[in-house]
Amino acid sequence: IPVDPFDLVIFGGTGDLARRKILPGLFRRFCAGQMPDAARIIGAARSDMDTDAYRQMVSDAIDEFGGDLAKECDARDAFLKLIGYIAIDARGETGWADLQEAMKGKGRVEAYYFSVSPALFGDLAERLQQWGMADEDARIVVEKPFGRDLETARDLNATLAAYFDEHQIYRIDHYLGKETVQNLMAVRFGNMLFEPLWNSQYVDHIQITVAETVGVGGRGEYYDKSGAMRDMVQNHLMQLLCLIAMEPPARFDPDAVRDEKLKVIRALDPVESYEIVRGQYQAVPMEESEHPGYRTAVGDAKSRTESFLALKTHISNWRWAGTPFYLRTGKRMSARSSEITVVFKDTPHSIFAEDAGRHRNVLSIRLQPNEGITLGVTIKEPGPGGMRLIDVPLDMTFADALGEDGADHVDAYERLIMDVIRGNQTLFMRGDEVEAAWAWTDPIIEGWELRHDVPKPYDSGSDGPTDAFELMRRDGRDWREVS
Ligand code: NAD
Repeated sequence: IPVDPFDLVIFGGTGDLARRKILPGLFRRFCAGQMPDAARIIGAARSDMDTDAYRQMVSDAIDEFGGDLAKECDARDAFLKLIGYIAIDARGETGWADLQEAMKGKGRVEAYYFSVSPALFGDLAERLQQWGMADEDARIVVEKPFGRDLETARDLNATLAAYFDEHQIYRIDHYLGKETVQNLMAVRFGNMLFEPLWNSQYVDHIQITVAETVGVGGRGEYYDKSGAMRDMVQNHLMQLLCLIAMEPPARFDPDAVRDEKLKVIRALDPVESYEIVRGQYQAVPMEESEHPGYRTAVGDAKSRTESFLALKTHISNWRWAGTPFYLRTGKRMSARSSEITVVFKDTPHSIFAEDAGRHRNVLSIRLQPNEGITLGVTIKEPGPGGMRLIDVPLDMTFADALGEDGADHVDAYERLIMDVIRGNQTLFMRGDEVEAAWAWTDPIIEGWELRHDVPKPYDSGSDGPTDAFELMRRDGRDWREVS
C-alpha cells in the first residue's frame, strides 16, 4: 500500500549515511510500489551542486549500495525525477529561502531527516522554525549518537523540544527496524506458547551479542571519544534488551510499547565493576599492516577506550529477578553476528538414562546475518539406537519462509523511513527512554574513568579477552559461539 504523498528533506543528503542507506532504501521502496509518484525528496547539504549532479550522485549510490532489488528495478528514471537538491548551510542563511519556497503548498506529509552531525541538530531545528517550516505536522528524524551522557542527551532533548513536540521527533535506532525485531514481538505476543515461560522461573539466562568483524576503520577519531558502551550498548543492545524483557504492552501502539521499554531500563540494576569486561583489539603478527590494532587505528598509543564490552546485569522486577542478562559487543571479532539467545532451564527431572543426553531449550533470535528465529527442541534420535536425545532446531528463518534471498530483505532504514511518513513512532526511541538509558550507563563509565581502567587486549579475529569468557564460566555458563 503506498504511503501518502510526502516531502522528505534530507539534511546531509550528500553524506555517507544518505548514500549508503537512506537514498538506496527510498529507491527500493519506490520500486516496491510503496512510494507515490507525487512524493518529493530534497537533498540539502553544504556542497554546491545542481539537481542533475545530485541525481547522478543518487544514481551512483543506488548502483553501489542498493543491492539486487535496486539493480533489477527499471523505474530509476521515474525515481530520479522525484529528487531535488538545495545547497544549504545549517549555521548560516544560504539556501533557506529556496527551501522555504520548495516546501510551500500544504496538505502533504513533511519530514526533515537530520543526517548530519548532532552538533547541527539545534541549528537545523531553529532555522526550520525561523523559516516557518516547523509547523505542527512536520516531523524530524534524528540520527545517533543522541548525546554522549545524560546531561548532553537532556540538553539535546530540550533543544529539540523548544521547536518540536515529542510526537514530531523520530529518534532512529536502526536495530529496531529489523524484520526479526518485529518478529520477536509477534512471537512473544502472538503465541500462547512462549509468554507463560517468559520469566525467571523458566528462563536460566538471556544473552545478547552484537559482534562485528570490522575495526574502527576511518571513524577512529570519532570512535575513540565514544567506545563500545556509548556507540553500541547504550542504544542498540539496550533497545534489544527492552524488547526481550518488557511486559506485554496493552496495545501495539507507540506509547504503550515505549512505556513498557522504559520500565525495563528503570528496573536495571547498576553493574558492579567485576561484572564488566572491557577490551581493546590488538593486531595479530603478520597482519599488522592490513589490520592494525586499535591504538594504531585511532592514532593514540595510550588510548583507554574500549572496542569490546561484556557485562552482566539484572532486571529487578517480579518477572526477571534472578535471571541474569549478559550483553557483549565488540569490533574485530571472529564473525559478524547479532543474536539474542534465551536459554531455558533444565527440565526439573530427567526420566531418561544418564547417558541419553540432556539438552536445554534455546530460543535464538538472529538479527544478522540470516535473520531468523530458531527454537532448539529435544527429540529422540531417529533410528533403532535406543532412547538417545538430540537437540534439533525448529527453524523460523524468513529467507526460507518467504522464499527470498536474505540480502534483499527490506532494510531497516527503508522500514523506518516509511514509518516516519505513516506517522508511526512505535519503532523509534522516546526522549525519556534515551535519558533513562544514559542514566544507567553514566555511572558505569564514570566508574572506569575514575579508576583509569585500562581495557584488556584481545587478538583481532578472536571473541574478546579471556576475562569475558570467565564472566560467564564462573556462573557455570558459556557464551554462544559467534558465527
Ligand atoms: P558525513 O560526514 O558523511 O556527511 C555529513 C553531511 O552533512 C554532508 O552531506 C555535509 O554536506 C552535511 N553538512 C555538514 N555541515 C553542514 C552544514 N553546516 N550545513 C548543512 N549541511 C552540512 O556524515 P554521515 O556519516 O552521513 O553521518 C550523518 C549523521 O548520521 C551523523 O549524525 C552520524 O553520527 C549519523 N550516523 C551515521 C552512520 C553511518 O553509517 N555513516 C551510522 C549511524 C549514524
